[in-house]
Amino acid sequence: MDPNQKLRDVIVYNELGGILGYENISNNEVDLAAYSRTRPGWPGTAPDFIAWPESVEQVAEVLRFANTKNIPIIPYCGGEGGAGMTWPLFGGIILDIKRLNKVLEINERNCTVVTQTGIMSQELEWELNAKGLTTAHLPQSQYISGVGGFLAARSTGALSTKYGKFPDMVLGMQVALPNGRIMRTRAVPRMAAGPDLNQLFCGSEGTLGVITEATLVVRPQPEVIRSWAVMMPNLHAGIEAVRKMLRLGLRPCVARLSDEIETDKLWKQERKGAQLILAFDGFAEMVDLELRKALEIVQAEGGEDLGSEVGEAWWTRRYTGVYPNEKPGYFNDRARGLAYGGVIDTAGDFDYLEAIHNKMKESVSRIDGTIFMAHFSHWYPTGGMMYPYIYNRNIPEDPTQIPELFYKLQRAAIQAVLKLGGTINHHHGIGFMLGQYMKGEYGWDGMDVLQSIKSALDPNNIMNPGKLGLEWRES
Ligand SMILES: Cc1cc2nc3c(=O)[nH]c(=O)nc-3n(C[C@H](O)[C@H](O)[C@H](O)COP(=O)(O)OP(=O)(O)OC[C@H]3O[C@@H](n4cnc5c(N)ncnc54)[C@H](O)[C@@H]3O)c2cc1C
Repeated sequence: MDPNQKLRDVIVYNELGGILGYENISNNEVDLAAYSRTRPGWPGTAPDFIAWPESVEQVAEVLRFANTKNIPIIPYCGGEGGAGMTWPLFGGIILDIKRLNKVLEINERNCTVVTQTGIMSQELEWELNAKGLTTAHLPQSQYISGVGGFLAARSTGALSTKYGKFPDMVLGMQVALPNGRIMRTRAVPRMAAGPDLNQLFCGSEGTLGVITEATLVVRPQPEVIRSWAVMMPNLHAGIEAVRKMLRLGLRPCVARLSDEIETDKLWKQERKGAQLILAFDGFAEMVDLELRKALEIVQAEGGEDLGSEVGEAWWTRRYTGVYPNEKPGYFNDRARGLAYGGVIDTAGDFDYLEAIHNKMKESVSRIDGTIFMAHFSHWYPTGGMMYPYIYNRNIPEDPTQIPELFYKLQRAAIQAVLKLGGTINHHHGIGFMLGQYMKGEYGWDGMDVLQSIKSALDPNNIMNPGKLGLEWRES
């Protein structure tokens, strides 16, 4: 190793130790390996240091120091964000905020919780449930992701069709800025005091600062939640049924519609068609009424009632598909012929939703060995989200060629989305793997606005460099 680099490492180590205490930093091989990121066939990325701050003041102090020395900082919560969000592309310091995990105040009258952002979602949920409350944000990554990651990656939970995305649930936040200053927004229901700074940091993927505290909306746990499954004759009829429900003001908390291939391959249903799982929650009488009205719409669209069994089983087992993860590698799994490991969920209005499904399917199917299937599980009165699974059986013998296949599939899928006016991502974020498509999403003018904000807040580009398609340079 370059002796100057070694000396530099010693200086950084001692500075960090001075700020955080030596027990709260590490550059030992095992820890570095645990926070390193790669996939089979991809070059590895590793941080130089890991830091576990315990207060916002410590976070700010680390940022101030890193800023003066141009050291990359990668904010890190659960570390489960997609598209390589926490890959330390240029080394630097992983700032793991998991020790900022205290619930500071639960205000039952105002229906709010003030929490530090390093708390894992299920731990927050347990504290709220003890008081009969919930955030109603229940993503599948409930046990492995946290509040900071949800905000910074614009996460969406299973109940979003009724309760919204995580950024809809934030009232206020505290943020440590790259220059070491600490800012706060007022946790008020809604304001007209200029642009909404909370939303500026939502989706920022650690590129603008570190969100250290958040005030969130909470609500009483529902009296009942009831799930039901129906078989729609095809995807078109399924989308129409959900569209009509939302238009009439029905609010299923879950509406999970599988396309015909997913219905067949994943659900292994004997009946052909597109399976739709619906759930309603709230007071029992209201749930019964909503369900009855929803089933009337389903029947008018040619759907068949499958009863409660499939829906209840899905709801009860919604986490067990991923915990414990006994599956071999998600990415290079020859037995299952999986090649695409990125998440390119998209969203669009009702005019576009079915077309994007068909176009994306057609586009990726041109690549030999590809199987495409999708489900639609987050809805709005104006449209919905599609979550595609893109498999390819032709995994190259030479693993170094895997990224090429990955990007080929990704390009084919995303170009179809962009042509039809959809978004390049609905709730898994951009990281570095989707960065090249941000220009397609925003155009050059929009990207210039984003870049100007980044440059103003983080002129030395220390915050998670290489992400969100923003300009970067090696420090
Ligand atoms: C099995 C599985 C299931 C999943 N299911 C869902 C799902 O149902 N819904 C969903 O939305 N997502 C899902 N995800 C993706 C993931 O959970 C989300 O992207 C989540 O928002 C990331 O949270 P995290 O705590 O893991 O964040 P990280 O991966 O630690 O961070 C995500 C990004 O936010 C930045 N960041 C983290 N904390 C802060 C902070 N305090 N301040 C500023 N920036 C910060 C990081 O630098 C990074 O860019 C799933 C992932 C897996 C592996």
